[in-house]
Amino acid sequence: MRAGPPIWLLDLDNTLHDAGREIFPWINIAMTEYVSRRLALPADEASALRVHYWRRYGATLLGLIRHHQIDPHEFLRETHPFDDLHRLVCRDHGLRDALRRLPGRKLVVTNGPRDYAAAVLRRLGLTPVLDGLVSVEDMRFAGRWLPKPSRRMLRLIIARLRVSPARCVLVEDSPENIASARALGLRTVLVAGHGHLGTHPSRRPRAGPGRRAGLQLQSVVALPRAVSRLR
Ligand SMILES: [Mg+2]
Repeated sequence: MRAGPPIWLLDLDNTLHDAGREIFPWINIAMTEYVSRRLALPADEASALRVHYWRRYGATLLGLIRHHQIDPHEFLRETHPFDDLHRLVCRDHGLRDALRRLPGRKLVVTNGPRDYAAAVLRRLGLTPVLDGLVSVEDMRFAGRWLPKPSRRMLRLIIARLRVSPARCVLVEDSPENIASARALGLRTVLVAGHGHLGTHPSRRPRAGPGRRAGLQLQSVVALPRAVSRLR
């Protein structure tokens, strides 16, 4: 089932670069402003609602679609930075070399919008070494948005690639997404070096050997040397 080189499914934020210091605070402020403006709420209530939907649905976007019928494209456009990315994203030249050395196809799979993800990848200098990008706009099925950690969507992404799950490796900072991938038979790498945004206890995967990543690294830069340890 593993015939052929691996297919690498790489998360973007906090996996290929550190989004926690500059970008996530920027996005949180922009989301609070969006909710405040669209729903006519004071800033503190808008912020609380943003956090509530993130905890309940795993993404603020899903709560806003379900309960307020917002325009998802407008929301994604207005809550992700573009013009400031040269200031917000730090380039790591070792990363491009590391990805180039990795055998097999490399796709970025992100819950972020396409324009934002493409701009971050350009800023990181990674576009030439990648084979594709699956953004949140691609994670829709039968009229529903199904971002990670949706198992149904992960299964669909792999089906579209026409490969077996055993050939795919999900590289991620999120334990929930690792748990979904393991349940589908993918191999997994947890990237722990950039920290994790934190998960509400109700959404956190239970501890146990089946929930752990096959490999844990501080940075994707270490991946080529660790491939032989991948289970
Ligand atoms: Mg991430």
